[in-house]
Amino acid sequence: MSETHSELARCLGAIEGLRLDRGVPLSRHTRFAIGGPADLFGVASTPLALAEAFQAARAAEVPCYLLGDGSNVVADDDGFRGLVLRYTADALSYVDGAVEAAAGGSLQALVDLTVDHGLEGLHTLERIPGSVGGAVYGNAGAYGHQIDEFVQSVDFLDGHEVRSFGPDECDFDYRESIFKRRKDWLILGVRLVLPPGDAAALRARAREIRTIRDEKFPPAMRCAGSIFKNLFLDSLPAAAAKIVPERAVRSGKVASAFFLEQVGAKGMRNGGIEIAPYHANLIYNLGGGTAAQIHELVHELKRRVRDRFAFEVEEEVQYVG
Ligand SMILES: Cc1cc2nc3c(=O)[nH]c(=O)nc-3n(C[C@H](O)[C@H](O)[C@H](O)COP(=O)(O)OP(=O)(O)OC[C@H]3O[C@@H](n4cnc5c(N)ncnc54)[C@H](O)[C@@H]3O)c2cc1C
Repeated sequence: MSETHSELARCLGAIEGLRLDRGVPLSRHTRFAIGGPADLFGVASTPLALAEAFQAARAAEVPCYLLGDGSNVVADDDGFRGLVLRYTADALSYVDGAVEAAAGGSLQALVDLTVDHGLEGLHTLERIPGSVGGAVYGNAGAYGHQIDEFVQSVDFLDGHEVRSFGPDECDFDYRESIFKRRKDWLILGVRLVLPPGDAAALRARAREIRTIRDEKFPPAMRCAGSIFKNLFLDSLPAAAAKIVPERAVRSGKVASAFFLEQVGAKGMRNGGIEIAPYHANLIYNLGGGTAAQIHELVHELKRRVRDRFAFEVEEEVQYVG
């Protein structure tokens, strides 16, 4: 470890509410179970600890990455030369008609709370893995709803101070938010307002979704869900849009799996990495797979789609390192 990293480690070691480890394999913290060691790995349990750790890394000019639950990342085989932070504050409450959730809590706990209180909308996000912070960052959604529909405000740390943005300022879009463009902004928590619904009906629908999802993504599967974003039909070249059957279009979007299937993605394999034989946009680690093998497969799929259909498929998954 360099002198700069050792100096930073000393500084981080003095922060209250931060647990610091060295050389932590990122494979332990990613759903793909892939990733080499992070030089420094800090777990912050309070906003202050998170802020101090981030600022210390910045002052030392050491790269810093905030990881959620690792369900949407591919971490490099060589790991991360710097500080990886996790935030574990998980306060969750429903007060005065609004739900408040700290970023380190699980999205499922948030979904459960809304269903228990008969609040409608987030029940369709049942079984999406990950943290609340990760869900806001990537505007997580499924089965007709995404989290931004209910966001009243997001609290975040801009590197200097805590700020709060309303939904417009968050610039949400399909699997997008301003936080994807500002990786130096750390989401601390979110305030949501949902319309009332019938708790029993919401619970029943959530159970149905759970069953479907568990079949598609068995809980032990080492993956990141869909690798590529879906596509807006009206953004595709005319020749590509023309071959999309009506039944494949939902809310103006076409599953990228539709095109991936056409280029032979299903069942492709590269070392320990495989594409599901039943779903062309689902890549998983059979065991012993590497980030390099994922990159090669992703690169090959992008090339095939570009060559055949003249557009780019874009990764939903984020890269660490
Ligand atoms: C089986 C499976 C099914 C999935 N299905 C869906 C689905 O249906 N719909 C969907 O939208 N997603 C889905 N995903 C993807 C993933 O669950 C979501 O993207 C999730 O919201 C990521 O949260 P996370 O905490 O795991 O984030 P991570 O994977 O740890 O991180 C993702 C990104 O978020 C950033 N981030 C995390 N926390 C913060 C924070 N507090 N502040 C700032 N940035 C932060 C990270 O820096 C990183 O760039 C699926 C994944 C899996 C494994």
